[in-house]
Amino acid sequence: MRDTLLVGGWKAPSLVDVRGRVSFTLWLCGCNLRCPFCHNWKLAEMLPGTCRWAKLDELVEALSGAARLVDVLHVTGGEPLLQPGRLRGLLEASHKLGLGNSINTNCTLPENMEQLLEEKLVDHVATDLKTPFHLLTGLSKSQAARLWGRYLDCLRLLARHGVEVELRIPVPRDIPGYTRLLEESLRQPTEALKGTNWYIVVNPLQGPPAVTPRSPDWCAEHCNPPRTLLEEVAAIAKRYNRKTYTINTPTAGP
Ligand code: SF4
Repeated sequence: MRDTLLVGGWKAPSLVDVRGRVSFTLWLCGCNLRCPFCHNWKLAEMLPGTCRWAKLDELVEALSGAARLVDVLHVTGGEPLLQPGRLRGLLEASHKLGLGNSINTNCTLPENMEQLLEEKLVDHVATDLKTPFHLLTGLSKSQAARLWGRYLDCLRLLARHGVEVELRIPVPRDIPGYTRLLEESLRQPTEALKGTNWYIVVNPLQGPPAVTPRSPDWCAEHCNPPRTLLEEVAAIAKRYNRKTYTINTPTAGP
């Protein structure tokens, strides 16, 4: 089974998954978090009909067929680092094809990330800075406090290995004190990422009908933040990193 990956599917070329790059995007199954806004929750929970075992050969063949059209293999999910041993072969094959490797991870599994970093198989990582961490991860406060430390360890590892990091800020609305909490939660990641190339993407949480989140009720209250809030978040983020970009979606409020 080591030459198979539990996948949800793939898409190539994709222009929307890695900022400024064309990607072959692969969705892997399973996740250790329970974010209420998650759009890929069926795949994250491996619901029947959403996932299948794909042989490494099949994935390499698909990647190879798209290689001249894309810059980078982008592995997302779900949480790709739940399958680190199986992922290794695909990342190696991607480098042999001359592509970069990008992973979209919740960064709470630093030991699994470290294995891949030691082998220089990761060039770019996209990860969310979820604030408030326990609310946006769907965990209890005590579970979230433990995982926050692991998240920071993961960022430090990325910096130590010189990996480029896209720090995404998923922006909810109507969370009391949100901008103050964000300001606080940006401090430690900024410190952790010192020494590597990183940038921020402000990402409004989208709700139905654009997407089908895990919790439609939560999303009805907290998705589709107003543009004024996005501007405020971008202004705060720029104080930590001038390379801050905002995703504008049609569902953002006025
Ligand atoms: S948003 Fe990402 S980290 Fe959160 S549950 Fe979904 S796949 Fe997991």
